[in-house]
Amino acid sequence: MVATPVLEPHVFGPQDFVGGDPVLDFVNTVTGRNGTPRDWIVDYPALLDWAEKAGALPSHTLAAVRDRAQREPRDAAAALARAKALREALFDVLSASSQARAPATTSLATIQREWRASHVAYVIAMDDDGGVDLRLDPAAVDFDLVAWVIASAAVHGMFHRRSDRLRMCAGADCAWWFIDTSKAGRRRWCDMAVCGNTAKAKRFNARRKTHR
Ligand SMILES: [Zn+2]
Repeated sequence: MVATPVLEPHVFGPQDFVGGDPVLDFVNTVTGRNGTPRDWIVDYPALLDWAEKAGALPSHTLAAVRDRAQREPRDAAAALARAKALREALFDVLSASSQARAPATTSLATIQREWRASHVAYVIAMDDDGGVDLRLDPAAVDFDLVAWVIASAAVHGMFHRRSDRLRMCAGADCAWWFIDTSKAGRRRWCDMAVCGNTAKAKRFNARRKTHR
């Protein structure tokens, strides 16, 4: 990471979920890591807003955690700090993976700690078609639930993906991660309409200047 991100209030919308994986979308809540980094999770309620838009937690759980956070803001703030530590650890592991280097041992330890802690929020249950499944305890109202769901998604999902399809957006002041699911595997932008067009406009203007 280049600089400490400044907090920037943000209204999360569909355009913020282009990573193709909830873990990447969570890491992308710090935007512009290759330019002016801004952290869009300004406080604990913002973390819950992100989780709601991400579909990371059921609505009754979100409502219960939101209520509890109003009564216990200090504990909620401490959980937010843990969630952000997890986010930075995931960023380090993603960067390491894409550069074929080892991540910091503290990064792996942070992810492992949250993943282990997450187990209290999961239950093993039968699903309707007779399978046995790991699912979020409907009674869980822990402040760390968002971090735990992400840590669990990283360990059980994201880390098993093909790392040669992991990309960082080539846009200036973006540096979002995404999984390239295109057939040719040549996707360069988090979103063509956002970073792709900006880059194209820049190239176009640069060309015009050299022609003059
Ligand atoms: Zn981008």
